[in-house]
Amino acid sequence: SRWDNSQNMDVLTGHLGWIEVICGPMFSGKSEELIRRLRRAMIARKRVQVFKPIIDNRYSIEEIVSHSEQRLKAENVSQARDILDKLDWRTQVVGIDEPNFLADGLVDVAQQLADSGKQVIISGLDTDFMGRPFAPIPELLCVAESITKTLAICMRCGNPAKHTQRLVEAEGLIVVGAMGMYEARCRRCFEPGIPKQELLEFAKVKAGNLNG
Ligand code: ADP
Ligand code: ZN
Repeated sequence: SRWDNSQNMDVLTGHLGWIEVICGPMFSGKSEELIRRLRRAMIARKRVQVFKPIIDNRYSIEEIVSHSEQRLKAENVSQARDILDKLDWRTQVVGIDEPNFLADGLVDVAQQLADSGKQVIISGLDTDFMGRPFAPIPELLCVAESITKTLAICMRCGNPAKHTQRLVEAEGLIVVGAMGMYEARCRRCFEPGIPKQELLEFAKVKAGNLNG
């Protein structure tokens, strides 16, 4: 499409490595797009390795899973450097999901992989629950050959959504969770922090669960 430059890579010759970034809010189809690209690489008989941080065990241990229940086998790492340790030198395509959990050192690792001829595909959140740039995506965008921004659907109004709205009160930048804890919101409907209305509804549900 006009909105990303992945088709520019069609002209490449030889064993050039590069970095592709897929970014956007939660529920925008980042994992689906990562899985789609990795499946196509496998169909093309390329050697593929997929990595994900071990902290993200919401759905399964050794797989990446999209909200639409698409799955792909993945190797767990606890920090970016582990990717280099676990890398098979014959691997041609490296997929990395949830890079926000691996921020420290991931840019260097991605650069090393691309410099040594690997196709690196990374899918992660570009902004946090306050709407701020979310490491390591900003820096990755600067070193990437290809950038795709995915949008979700705003759960308030149905418009294209670029924000991840946190619905529950929690400490810290990263709170692992999915449905019920976060939803996609457009620029107009996004409220950095916790919206009072949602907090009320959440409290009501919680009280209901306790009573029932
Ligand atoms: P991400 O990796 O960006 O969190 P996923 O690839 O895991 O997204 O999931 C995308 C899927 O989530 C969509 O295809 C759709 O089935 C579902 N979905 C749930 N809520 C929304 C939403 N608000 N907007 C778009 N898709 C949504
Ligand atoms: Zn909206």
